[in-house]
Amino acid sequence: MAGTSQDGHVAYVSMEYGLENGMNTYNGGLGILAGDVVRGFADLDVDAVGVTLLNEYGLGEQQLDEDGTQHVEPAPWPVEEYCEPLDATVSMTIGGHDVTIGAWRYDVESEHGGTVPVIMLDTDREDNDNWIRELTQRVYAPGKDEGFKLAVYLVLGIGGVRMLDELGYDVSTYHMNEGHASFLTLELLRRNDLDAEAVREQCVFTTHTPVAAAHDEYHYDLLADLMGDLVPIETVKEHSPQGMVHTTRLALNLSRYVNGVAKRHQEVSQEMFPEHAEHIDAITNGAHVPTWVGDDIADLLDENIRDWRVYPTKLQHATLIEDEPLWEAHQAQKRDLIEYVRERTGVELDEDVLTLGFARRAVPYKRAPLLFQDKERLREVVARAGDVQIVYAGKAFPGDEQGKDIIREIYSHAEDLAGEITITYLEDYDMEMGLKLTSGVDVWLNNPRRPREASGTSGMKAAFNGVPQFSTIDGWWVEGHIEGETGWSIGPEPHSPREQRMNDAQEDLVDATALYDTLEQEVLPTYYDDREEWIGIMRNAIAFNGSRYHARRMMEEYLATAYAPEN
Ligand SMILES: *Cc1c(COP(=O)(O)O)cnc(C)c1O
Repeated sequence: MAGTSQDGHVAYVSMEYGLENGMNTYNGGLGILAGDVVRGFADLDVDAVGVTLLNEYGLGEQQLDEDGTQHVEPAPWPVEEYCEPLDATVSMTIGGHDVTIGAWRYDVESEHGGTVPVIMLDTDREDNDNWIRELTQRVYAPGKDEGFKLAVYLVLGIGGVRMLDELGYDVSTYHMNEGHASFLTLELLRRNDLDAEAVREQCVFTTHTPVAAAHDEYHYDLLADLMGDLVPIETVKEHSPQGMVHTTRLALNLSRYVNGVAKRHQEVSQEMFPEHAEHIDAITNGAHVPTWVGDDIADLLDENIRDWRVYPTKLQHATLIEDEPLWEAHQAQKRDLIEYVRERTGVELDEDVLTLGFARRAVPYKRAPLLFQDKERLREVVARAGDVQIVYAGKAFPGDEQGKDIIREIYSHAEDLAGEITITYLEDYDMEMGLKLTSGVDVWLNNPRRPREASGTSGMKAAFNGVPQFSTIDGWWVEGHIEGETGWSIGPEPHSPREQRMNDAQEDLVDATALYDTLEQEVLPTYYDDREEWIGIMRNAIAFNGSRYHARRMMEEYLATAYAPEN
């Protein structure tokens, strides 16, 4: 039977991986998810193997000058300290050039399960031409042209399949994490005499992109030139027939099982690809609980819930944790964050002031500056309902001027509000900072433009720590949100007529207004005047959302559906 996890390995192929803090091999949520997936595999002791690129120069280290202008310094990470070099190479040709690919292995070890290796492909070898050496150096190849990016995807897909073979893995399922990995189907087509059904039996695909324009597309000629005679370009056209090589369509057409990463994202994907509507399932993301819980909450959970690390569904028993110890554990983590912020910025946050956290990649749809849409109104909210302080973090992709403007804009609002509202921006958002922030703030703020947040996972990390989310109802929050119980919403419900009619400017206005109103009438009064109620919401965040939006549940769903033999 093809595709059971029992009769071979699941190979999880992803352009980026958030493995541990010192390894700068990821850009954002997609990579962090890949890391949490593999941590979930290890906990469940599944026969699985990860595949990615070495990305030895990382994404770069972010520095911000006085006005918030981002500078990115190359940030190579010490590969030998984390990874073991493998004595294996494979070769392929790209644009007629010979490419030799080496590999490194990083082991993800579970405290209570097994070990899952991640194979990291490396073209930076003396036997390769200079441009080929660069293919696996930087995450998503900033500043490079389309041909270079396509070549990178070919290394991941074709090089990945060949390397697994060379290393002796018996792979029953190739799981493509986002369209970047979809060229692995080309190598599988070649091996199966272009028999698409045989390829489909071996492939599973998870899409993450809820907007049509954001899917990667390339000219057939470009791919034909680069891949040479690997497979006829006519075969690619057959499986990506809309005039371009569309990496998502290729994966949709050549996978036996396909899913979006939340219920809402499933619907959006079905609308985008109606011919695949029947075929697109939903598995809502989960974050890896032991990785994303702060020390003090972890101690508290140890005292109250046996084996919560092994079986995080048991976090439902958090309903029985008492007020006082929950509040104390939270405040201890908050003090830890305050210290962390002081060390990095010199800014002194107040332990008794409601603290909002917002850490995201600096891209327009995440709308980092939404809170400042109407500063007079924000001043009024604070004057009437109580103080807030805000911690921001997030990188713009190197060279992304729009993203850089967003960071500068936050800096300028912070300056305008200096002396009234403490606002600080932390440099170089990474996994360690992600944990500090989601475990140490009082409220996790999230206000993406709908339906752009396919899932989002940082709000799940917050939930594990008893930090309620305050968010537009998009991504996983459509499922995790119970108003005033697990957090709060911003703006209209999905599918409401009001949501359907909005353009971007209206959406900003409607959401900013809702944000101010809810902050003034619900969030701040509860925090300052009804601490008991507040702690109840913290407890619910753990008990209702922590117990569901975790990596073990996510991976059990993949095992039961995506990797099951009947799928
Ligand atoms: C969790 C995390 C993300 C993803 O969070 P989103 O909610 O999807 O934006 C990105 N980067 C880092 C460093 C993280 O820890």
